[in-house]
Amino acid sequence: MNRDGAWGRRDLLKGSLAVGGLAGLQGCAPSVKSAATVPPRGVSLVPMRMSVDEIIDVKCCIRPFRPQGPRLDAEQIGDTLVIHNYGHGGSGWSLSWGSAEIVVGKAMTVLPKEIAVIGCGIIGLTAAVVAQRAGAKVTIYARDQLPRTRSFRANGSWTPDSRISLTEPAGAAFGDLWEQMARISWKNFRTYLGLPERPVEFSDQYGLSDGPIRSEGEGRVPDATARGSFATTGMPQQKGEFGHYSDRIRDIVPQSETVSAEENPFGVAHVRRTSMMHFNFGSYGHLLMSEFFQQGGRFEMRDFHSPADVATLREKVVINCPGYAGRDLWRDKTIIPVRGQTGWLVPQPEAKYGLYYAGVSVLSKSDGVMMMHTSSTLGDMEGVGNSLELPDRVPIEEGVKIIAPIFDRLRGARA
Ligand SMILES: Cc1cc2nc3c(=O)[nH]c(=O)nc-3n(C[C@H](O)[C@H](O)[C@H](O)COP(=O)(O)OP(=O)(O)OC[C@H]3O[C@@H](n4cnc5c(N)ncnc54)[C@H](O)[C@@H]3O)c2cc1C
Repeated sequence: MNRDGAWGRRDLLKGSLAVGGLAGLQGCAPSVKSAATVPPRGVSLVPMRMSVDEIIDVKCCIRPFRPQGPRLDAEQIGDTLVIHNYGHGGSGWSLSWGSAEIVVGKAMTVLPKEIAVIGCGIIGLTAAVVAQRAGAKVTIYARDQLPRTRSFRANGSWTPDSRISLTEPAGAAFGDLWEQMARISWKNFRTYLGLPERPVEFSDQYGLSDGPIRSEGEGRVPDATARGSFATTGMPQQKGEFGHYSDRIRDIVPQSETVSAEENPFGVAHVRRTSMMHFNFGSYGHLLMSEFFQQGGRFEMRDFHSPADVATLREKVVINCPGYAGRDLWRDKTIIPVRGQTGWLVPQPEAKYGLYYAGVSVLSKSDGVMMMHTSSTLGDMEGVGNSLELPDRVPIEEGVKIIAPIFDRLRGARA
């Protein structure tokens, strides 16, 4: 048992093996540990406090979605080489390192001593750090530093193929590029595991359903699996399905497993469990900003209004990471807004897991319990084409009410 009085993964695994083993060896295995002494894994989860009084914040944000996938090409403006790095949809945190390696690789072909990065969201900041690691002197120019960017209003889980493309305009070649970005990113995140303040960590995610869970995706948090036909989203000029590529990296990313009836304390018929990586914004963001400044990075607050503005910079190699704002700055109408919002409840570090049920997901992170409610009127598909960035507390309150009974049952199962 760990410090919080909850059973750790290894204890629980032992528990489930003991319980499973006992079933097969009834009455003939005196050496097998008694099931009564080993609580089923699910029962040992600390129930989350789920009340509207625990809500401390509701954040709204726009995903910068491009049907053809992120823009990573280079463009010459006068004597300035601009390499674009925007349009990462619902996958920007997850693909940031891979995307950064690709664009910095393009920048380094002209061997610049100095590089300018426009934007200090997760895409700009990781590009800046990777450019420093490649030996360049880097200045970030942006309206805001990371904690004030749209990136900080995301969910912050490993969701590398969430709203990243439409299968048709992106084409088969994008799958290869995606895989390259995902694998590089995954490797980089591994170096941030096991650190103080837990910038990046894994936790168990439970997918709960009253009916059978038919696919891997159904039991996972909705942001990891946004599916559907784009033609039904109010943007009829775009056709096709959201691109899904995660099967390509099954060899490195944990897959989900069915939770047995003995282990299931939630009072719903079907449960799947998976280990999922997430990013704790406060500590991870702080670590990245510190690394950038320690390596001699400079930050300058600037507001650009056009590509010509960008070409006036002293640096003649620029990595352009404006996120959704690229739609105005670069007049790039291929960027489509996909609205989303998260609710935040008081941090509950004693509960170290996440759960998804009936369109509501909760994830206990170090900076708070994050909630998304996608079955509401502001659900997944309704967000497409919506650039209204006003938070709406109502769906989050509804989400609390939908999911609170699950934790009541968990409390009951532990009593
Ligand atoms: C609800 C929600 C949940 C999400 N969950 C996840 C998740 O779990 N996992 C995941 O991987 N992704 C997730 N995403 C997606 C992710 O948040 C985005 O892909 C990512 O934030 C994009 O980052 P960015 O750096 O490109 O843009 P931004 O964060 O918007 O940063 C843009 C930067 O450019 C600067 N800038 C813009 N225009 C100008 C200008 N004209 N002049 C000067 N500076 C400028 C801004 O100040 C800012 O610094 C989620 C998104 C939403 C909305």
